[in-house]
Amino acid sequence: MLALRACGADIFEQMMGWGMAAFPARARVVIIGGGAVGASCLYHLAKAGWTDCLLLEKNELTAGSTWHAAGNVPTFSSSWSIMNMQRYSAELYRGLGAEVDYPMNYHVTGSVRLAHTAERMDEFRRVVGMGRYQGMALELLEPDEIKARYPFLEVHDLMGALYDPNDGDIDPAQLTQALAKGARNMGARVERFCPVLSVRREGEDWVIVTEKGEVRCEFVVNAAGYYAREVGQMFGREVPMMVMSHQYMLFDTVPEVAAHSAETGKKLPLLRDVDSSYYLRQEKNGFNLGPYERNGRAHWISKDDPFPSDFSFQLFPDDLERLEWYIEDAMARVPLLAIAPLTKVINGPIPYTPDGNPLIGPMPGVPNAFEACVFTFGICQAGGAGKVLAEWVTKGATEWDMWSCDPRRFTGFEDEAYCIAKGMEVYGHEYGMHFPHYAWPAGRGQKLSPVHNRVAALGAQFGAYNGWERANWYARPGDDVSEAGAQTWKREGAWFGAVREECEAVRDAAGILDLPGFSRFRLSGAGAAAWLSRQITGRMPNVGRVGLAYFADDMGRIVTEMSIVRLGADEMTLITAATAQAHDFDWLARHLEPGLTLVDVTLDYACQIVTGPASRAIFAEVCGADLTLTWLSHQETKIAGRWVRLLRVSFAGELGWEIHTKVADTAVVNDAVMTAGAKHGLRPFGMFALNSLRIEKGYRAWKGDLSTDYTVLQGGLERFVDWGHEFRGKAALAAEKQRGVTKQFVALAVEAGAYDPPYMSTIWQGDAVVGETTSGYFGHRVGACVALGMVRADLAVAGLALEVEIFGQRHRAVVQAEAAMWDGKNERIRA
Ligand SMILES: Cc1cc2nc3c(=O)[nH]c(=O)nc-3n(C[C@H](O)[C@H](O)[C@H](O)COP(=O)(O)OP(=O)(O)OC[C@H]3O[C@@H](n4cnc5c(N)ncnc54)[C@H](O)[C@@H]3O)c2cc1C
Repeated sequence: MLALRACGADIFEQMMGWGMAAFPARARVVIIGGGAVGASCLYHLAKAGWTDCLLLEKNELTAGSTWHAAGNVPTFSSSWSIMNMQRYSAELYRGLGAEVDYPMNYHVTGSVRLAHTAERMDEFRRVVGMGRYQGMALELLEPDEIKARYPFLEVHDLMGALYDPNDGDIDPAQLTQALAKGARNMGARVERFCPVLSVRREGEDWVIVTEKGEVRCEFVVNAAGYYAREVGQMFGREVPMMVMSHQYMLFDTVPEVAAHSAETGKKLPLLRDVDSSYYLRQEKNGFNLGPYERNGRAHWISKDDPFPSDFSFQLFPDDLERLEWYIEDAMARVPLLAIAPLTKVINGPIPYTPDGNPLIGPMPGVPNAFEACVFTFGICQAGGAGKVLAEWVTKGATEWDMWSCDPRRFTGFEDEAYCIAKGMEVYGHEYGMHFPHYAWPAGRGQKLSPVHNRVAALGAQFGAYNGWERANWYARPGDDVSEAGAQTWKREGAWFGAVREECEAVRDAAGILDLPGFSRFRLSGAGAAAWLSRQITGRMPNVGRVGLAYFADDMGRIVTEMSIVRLGADEMTLITAATAQAHDFDWLARHLEPGLTLVDVTLDYACQIVTGPASRAIFAEVCGADLTLTWLSHQETKIAGRWVRLLRVSFAGELGWEIHTKVADTAVVNDAVMTAGAKHGLRPFGMFALNSLRIEKGYRAWKGDLSTDYTVLQGGLERFVDWGHEFRGKAALAAEKQRGVTKQFVALAVEAGAYDPPYMSTIWQGDAVVGETTSGYFGHRVGACVALGMVRADLAVAGLALEVEIFGQRHRAVVQAEAAMWDGKNERIRA
């Protein structure tokens, strides 16, 4: 044994840990897939004390996408949670080699990200602010400062650049081995050349069937990279994904680059020309050029190109033709590239979900099973992903709200054609900017309202919400409805005037919003009300009433919000956001008591909102309902001879009712209401107007203002807490109440310039960071930019002037006495 140790710790460990011990009969967690992500999951589980875990890899570790990855480790993201994950990875990788005694090539070179346009500079300004909040010193560079960072660059046509000192590159295989070694050092186990063939459920166990035998486990993780769909199918789960080919080219030594490195003792920073869409990295003393081309290629999507049963350590044939434009562009940008000899092309598979973010979290509908797969940037995200996955498994909840990566953000409508269309779109716009009023065009028209054509004929400009097409705004004759018109960060665009008119109609007369895809679940069975009462922080509504309910996790954090329509003692409909469909159903189903019935009836009904002071007069003309019933009541009635249920609620904050119809009756009901409404000034309004109206009322939006980043008390929702009953999260909330909250939800009137504050804009008091916005929009009724957000609890003082940083500029923002800046006493809604 001593001799073995002397001739190499790795060989010794491989024999002891990987090959020689008998195949285990049991493990607490089995991870399927040994790429960077699977290895990080194992490492983080072990780090959390769950050392009795086993990773199964069909080939050698890294055999999937990991072995050939370029290994770039950016922290940049315009998504708060993805940035968090990548920042964590970079911090982990810095110390990992020393921690696990596995030296790694990790070069922290910094990066220069180029801006060709003013919009791109705005994006950078925003990311600098987010980065600063996360403790990173990102820096903006003027065009004349760029060359000091990257001397070989043409800068004449640039607006500027972003410098990220934390960026760099790592050897992906070494990273994976280091994570696996760290996990093994703590007692976890890796079994290579051990493909998982099938799985089955036996009692509370998963039985994982492999060529080497069967292993039982409590939890299982699909970390199978681009094989995730095949592994998912073993669990009866359709993983929404597709596979693109991505290429990078290696160029040999360029004397000037070698001289620069010799002189400075460092590599050039990683260069990303995001508007042209490629990265260019110094590789030894040459280059690595990797484009995300618009004319990308999907793989394994046809009978002529079937999904291979094993693609370990394989590549696609080179396909440089489609990269020509990018190569030429890069050569014009860095002329030295033109003299560098091309030596090698790597063309490998890279998996995509329809929105390009990975899947990390509970496997929808499958008990004790999780996903950590379909990573497009799995090297720079592996560290953070492992942390997040380990938290899901060991605690059932994550430290950071990770909705951006939650598998339940997809709800099952994402068929192959949709996945391909969206994957191609994301790949071709990998560095694209996500403007707040822009609706990405691919994969549209998945789910249509029963009155879609009527809405379209009225000028609706649509956006997709969980695949449902909803009007964002209604264009007037002459309004610019081009795609280019919406590609701005600015508040004002073609929609602005139309949205103002829509809001004014709701304020002064009435508006109608067609809202297909409201998620709804029917809950029934003896004891249903008692059970539901224990799930929500507040009181159950009485029969005939509607209640807004908040669901907390065990830490008292906000899981979700649903409207409860109490139909009978033990019968209710739960209504929630379109995007929350799978998440909320899953949350309820996981906690459901035996004997209760929970059914998703989303597709059976449709909803139209009619709101505004004239709405009572309109309903009086079309139905015999009792329109004196108070706010938060519901009743059945008939419109145009068709059954409807009216809910007296309004997310717009005016007098109003939601009309819930059976899908087949919706058009007839819509006709009747539109006809009656015409003389009362009824006009259609869209989601942009709804956002404006709700923010003035301080109504929170799910996964913006309402997320697991905050507790129910921080969220300012104590009026929805009934301390006199038992509910999930009560102990944590009671303890927090005793301690006093550290953060407090507020509304701010912002003296903003041309932009509204995006999600997670920093709130300042003098030089101190004191909070962050969770949403921001222009309120047309109050005539001001409104931000909702969290500030240090002692600063939640009406009239206090703070500042909100919006795209790099600080703007005065005054804390409001009430979260509702419009009709704080709810007189209009109760009228
Ligand atoms: C050319 C190219 C360059 C890239 N450059 C970068 C970059 O610079 N930075 C970055 O962050 N990302 C980059 N990526 C993406 C990155 O490679 C992937 O996101 C990452 O490797 C995914 O890691 P993973 O562990 O999720 O999957 P994989 O590495 O694919 O690992 C999955 C593993 O599961 C195993 N497996 C599958 N089925 C089974 C089964 N039934 N039983 C047991 N095991 C199974 C496979 O053998 C495989 O080893 C690049 C990708 C390509 C193609």
